Amino acid sequence: MAAAANNDALLKVENLQVEFRTRRGTALVLNGVDFEVKPGETLCVVGESGCGKSMTALALLRLIPSPPGRIRAGRVLFRGEDLVQASEARMGEVRGNRISMIFQEPMTSLNPVYTVGDQIGESLRVHAGLDRRAARERAIEMLRQVGIPAPERRVDDHPHKMSGGMRQRVMIAMALACRPDILIADEPTTALDVTVQAQIFDLLRELQRERGTAIVLITHDMGAVAEMADRVMVMYAGRVIEQGTTEQVLGAPLHPYTQGLIACLPELGSSRDGTRHDLNEIRGVVPSIWELGSGCAFRERCPYAMPRCARDVPPMQGHDGHGAACWLVPETTARGTLQGAVA
Ligand code: SF4
Repeated sequence: MAAAANNDALLKVENLQVEFRTRRGTALVLNGVDFEVKPGETLCVVGESGCGKSMTALALLRLIPSPPGRIRAGRVLFRGEDLVQASEARMGEVRGNRISMIFQEPMTSLNPVYTVGDQIGESLRVHAGLDRRAARERAIEMLRQVGIPAPERRVDDHPHKMSGGMRQRVMIAMALACRPDILIADEPTTALDVTVQAQIFDLLRELQRERGTAIVLITHDMGAVAEMADRVMVMYAGRVIEQGTTEQVLGAPLHPYTQGLIACLPELGSSRDGTRHDLNEIRGVVPSIWELGSGCAFRERCPYAMPRCARDVPPMQGHDGHGAACWLVPETTARGTLQGAVA
């Protein structure tokens, strides 16, 4: 986990709503997403495929395919500036410079035609105003920092000459070249074997310690969460359904969905008092965005569902910065609502 972060939010997301308009109708794929990221911390965003994790990341940088998608409502406050209202020119300055992103499969993001040095150097030329020679020198330095051997030689390689792990390191070098305030990493190790995964996480932690970069790590892997996160945000069907510190969420999960995710992992499947959570695996699948209807989106899969769950959407409730959107939570915590404790 990262060193302690200070308390001022670097990024504050408020009531973010994203809709997609299709022939079938309008679907709300993000529905009232609220969270914040503090300098130097790692926030892990978890959930199964289709829960809205990647859509949230794309929305932060205004990279949603439009049409058919668009941000319907909400604010994305980066150092107090609302990026939802920013001009395209301003977004060009923010992307890759102040907020960078790395993706699951680096080959889809790296251009096969250019050398890795050219690609790392490009953002330095565009954003930092370096000339070609200085950009190349910095690219070599970045390759060295991300642990690529013989960087003076590898800087002239094309991406296809590198292994998957090396390409992901190049992506990290590109993303961090301009010293961004926030790095968004969307499943950065899913395509890599376990040993390389561990190396990439070590690298991210080390670079974060050196540079104070905040990391938003999107993952479906609760093991990665345990290893990397300071705070955790769990998403389900386009909503945030639980938030808290890593200790709170992994040690005493409030939402039945989070309990199910944790119970799927043998080493995390017991709470601190040694009792196992009730779900050994989560039955069923995430419902289609077209089938949500009213009430709690998890109700078809939830062993505790009650009549109210089909009728009303549960609000986020809890205390001490730890909350969940579940009608059981007030009974569990009985200590008031979050009211801003969770952004
Ligand atoms: Fe289960 Fe109801 Fe809580 Fe939803 S609100 S998670 S259905 S108990």
